Amino acid sequence: MSDVRNVIIIGSGPAGYTAALYTARASLNPLVFEGSVSSGGALMNTTEVENFPGFRDGIMGPELMDNMRSQAERFGAELIPDDIVAVDLSGDIKLVTDSEGTVHKAKAVIVATGSQHRKLGLEHEDELSGRGVSWCATCDGFFFRDQDIAVVGGGDTAMEEATFLSRFAKSVTVIHRREELRASKTMQERAFNDPKITFAWNSEVAELHSEGGKLSSVTLKDTRTGEARALPVTGLFIAVGHDPRTELFKGQLELDDEGYLRVDAPSTRTNVSGVFGAGDVVDHTYRQAITAAGTGCSAALDAERFLAAQA
Ligand code: FAD
Repeated sequence: MSDVRNVIIIGSGPAGYTAALYTARASLNPLVFEGSVSSGGALMNTTEVENFPGFRDGIMGPELMDNMRSQAERFGAELIPDDIVAVDLSGDIKLVTDSEGTVHKAKAVIVATGSQHRKLGLEHEDELSGRGVSWCATCDGFFFRDQDIAVVGGGDTAMEEATFLSRFAKSVTVIHRREELRASKTMQERAFNDPKITFAWNSEVAELHSEGGKLSSVTLKDTRTGEARALPVTGLFIAVGHDPRTELFKGQLELDDEGYLRVDAPSTRTNVSGVFGAGDVVDHTYRQAITAAGTGCSAALDAERFLAAQA
């Protein structure tokens, strides 16, 4: 049994690294799979983070993640920049397989694989992330005070983002492919009644343009006629959905209708004993670094208690 770890953590965003920090400090010697291409998680793709407590003047996303990583490592967390490609969570000893086919064993597993925001698939979209293109109004709205901005999408999230952003922005244009919204009636009415919000119906973003490395305008294409027009905006908030990274766990862990991992809230216990879920892979409501870190901490404490009860 010596090759059986106490705990394996899959994922390396704020949830995974916080779980690693706590389990390392509890002498559980965690093994963390960080992912091969995107270790550090979603904040590696942004610039300034101003709402993570403890950094009065803000901190760059990659620096924050680097700090979290080193802090976990300092207490003995073992970090591997590789992907887990298969899991078998059914037994008392959980099996997780890395990309080279090596099977790792653990008594407890913490799933912190995050969620992927859907992109528009446009040229320059990635390089303008954090430079005008955003997927999070709560995170970035403040940077767009008195500016003309746009929100892409027609669901509840898009309407919520638009009404939230209208507090800061000079104007908010909602860009939607159809001529009616999917959002709930209440959310629609709130947006329709907001004097700063206008709608670009039957429109999709066809091109992103920048000046000095920052978004300066977008080209909109009419979805019926194909006609193009310019919309000068310095912010574009993309709210067309998220995909939780749960493919690996289908058929093994209970997922909700949208594919998020179901946990026995307020705990982080999944439906399988010894398996815990934390961060955006569970959360379709808050999706913040601090909430992910918070549930990462909860998952570590839940795993610690689970292991103590087994001993
Ligand atoms: P993630 O950060 O998504 O990390 C999960 C990681 O797990 C993945 O990146 C990957 O490396 C790893 N992984 C996934 N699958 C596997 C696998 N099979 N094997 C191994 N590893 C795997 N929030 C704020 O609070 N403030 C902000 O200013 C802010 N800005 C943002 C800017 C951008 C551009 C984006 C996209 C998000 C922003 N957020 C911000 C939201 C915040 O980044 C997320 O809420 C947070 O990162 C979620 O943390 P997480 O640990 O759950 O998942």
